[in-house]
Amino acid sequence: MKKLFIKYDEIHRLTHKIAMDIQKDWQPDVIVAIASGGFIPARILKTYLKKDIYVVGLKRYSDTEEAIHHQPIKIQWIDEVEKKIKDKKILLVDEVDDTRLTLSYCLKELLKHDPKEIRVAILHQKLKPKEAEFPPEIKTIYQGEQIDDVWIKYPWEAVDIDKHNNNLE
Ligand code: 5GP
Repeated sequence: MKKLFIKYDEIHRLTHKIAMDIQKDWQPDVIVAIASGGFIPARILKTYLKKDIYVVGLKRYSDTEEAIHHQPIKIQWIDEVEKKIKDKKILLVDEVDDTRLTLSYCLKELLKHDPKEIRVAILHQKLKPKEAEFPPEIKTIYQGEQIDDVWIKYPWEAVDIDKHNNNLE
């Protein structure tokens, strides 16, 4: 599969753009980052939105990039979730919407706790047929950019950042 190397500066610029889009007419109460791809975008969003970050852990892929689980597996969830989610405006952050299985599952789980609203922010939207849909309650998806169905190499996955920056690893 074709690879697309994304550099840290690009991550920051895409995240800044998302923050500006959000701030046009909305403010979340909290940011929920999906581990671990959502960590860095969520942290950058915090610089602009100044909200606390909660973390949820879901897993679908092995480290060898193979799809090993069709359904995401919950490996970490929010402590005292009722208190933290109920009646709150949530910004759910991940790095990429690929098959959509992870986001769709996570949104359904969060919606069980009666948030006021959930919006989604992703750096990359892959233009491809999706294997799941967003729940109907989800009306707004902020996206950094849309891309073809390629394999994205994020800088935080690089073992050698100089090679990564030269599109080499
Ligand atoms: P899903 O297929 O459920 O939308 O994506 C699940 C997870 O797979 C994403 O959160 C991300 O961690 C990983 N993933 C999907 N596509 C890519 C990709 O192109 N590059 C990388 N590095 N991870 C991806």
